[in-house]
Amino acid sequence: MIRYLDALEISLKSKSGVVPEDAISDARSHLERACLDTEDTIQDDEELYAHLVDQFGEPEVVAAQYRDEASPITMPGKGYAPGWRIYCTKCGRSAPASEAGVIRIGARSYHKYVLGWCRQCGWFRWLRLQRDLDDTNITRKMGTDLTPEKYRASIHIPVWSIFVLATVFSLISTWVINHFWH
Ligand SMILES: [Zn+2]
Repeated sequence: MIRYLDALEISLKSKSGVVPEDAISDARSHLERACLDTEDTIQDDEELYAHLVDQFGEPEVVAAQYRDEASPITMPGKGYAPGWRIYCTKCGRSAPASEAGVIRIGARSYHKYVLGWCRQCGWFRWLRLQRDLDDTNITRKMGTDLTPEKYRASIHIPVWSIFVLATVFSLISTWVINHFWH
């Protein structure tokens, strides 16, 4: 079952507009039921995987069903950021960074945050860039009982950047006041 979820997670991350943890949680409950039903007849891992593929379809095909054709995060142009994924820290809407138009990310960092517009939330959100297109970190972290909500709550949001932002805003408003109020 984990093998199926791993394959599904990798496929989901390559789709634009999905919320991987929601889809994984949904698939998990279907798979659990299928595994319980076949507990007595199938013991072999390979055989179980084949049975799940038989019943639900290839992970890649299932992932495609969860995809929303709408582009998830609005950024201009096409970019090149292989291996990176961008997602909303609030609702989880996700896309490969290259498809979202992210051009360059510092090679050393594992994750970064940008403030951007999330279509699903309809508001500005912290969007997180994470180099996890080829990792199955969500399946691992969610295990058998973590809900998508709890998973998202565990995503670290950079509080200090809010202070930085507040400082920038106050500098801009000071500038505006100095230039236009005389
Ligand atoms: Zn969102």
